[in-house]
Amino acid sequence: MGDRRGQWDRDEIGVTAEPLTIVCSPRLDATEGGRWATFLDRDGVINAMVTDPEFGLVDSPANSEQFRLLPGVGAAIAALNRLGGLVVVVSNQPGIAKGKLTPELLAAMDRKMVAEVGAAGGTVDAIIYCLHHPEASLAPYRMACSCRKPKAGLLTHAAREWGIDLARSFMVGDGVTDIAAGQAAGAKTIFLSSRKCYICDALLEHGAWPDFQVPDLPAAAAVIVQIVSGDVDASARSTARCGPPGGRPVMATTTLRP
Ligand SMILES: [Mg+2]
Ligand SMILES: [Zn+2]
Repeated sequence: MGDRRGQWDRDEIGVTAEPLTIVCSPRLDATEGGRWATFLDRDGVINAMVTDPEFGLVDSPANSEQFRLLPGVGAAIAALNRLGGLVVVVSNQPGIAKGKLTPELLAAMDRKMVAEVGAAGGTVDAIIYCLHHPEASLAPYRMACSCRKPKAGLLTHAAREWGIDLARSFMVGDGVTDIAAGQAAGAKTIFLSSRKCYICDALLEHGAWPDFQVPDLPAAAAVIVQIVSGDVDASARSTARCGPPGGRPVMATTTLRP
């Protein structure tokens, strides 16, 4: 798969404050104007979280054996590809900084993700990771960077690298920090949650109210397909089921699924 821009090599001589950028498709080599992208969080959006059988703790996968795509993800990414936008994975991965993961294990998960999405006909154009953490146990990664979500740095980095119009782009995530990062970047936001509103308070507290809420990536892709094809006006949200207290309702429901 694509070049890693020497970033892994750089780890040996000191980690940079830039995000790790992994180019996975030749599309990014071309200079195209008017690009837009769907930015996807990784854990809980593309792959399942891992539950520790002993302690019941939910965590990110630590190796490629634990890395399992969620149902319908490859086909959903293929549907996004057909719209003509880029598909870029944007993820905080502090596992290396915390000594729980190695660059090689992360790269093995990347290869599995790209291969399994590819087997379903989809293309991940690029992966961008924030490897930093303010309390990292490995000193080179310990920094208050500008790319760790909820900051917008992963998205703005991609926008600079590849000429992406963020106002025409989408951020899909299952965490409050994903929605906050997407909004900070000026993208439309789609929050994945199978529950009705259990983190609404957290979303409100962070001022990160998503444009849409749907249960999973296939449903998010269906919303994006409808917006891009003009069937749904992203600014005219309807069928609300919850909203800020006293404010106008802003959430669309899964009825957008075709
Ligand atoms: Mg997540
Ligand atoms: Zn960072």
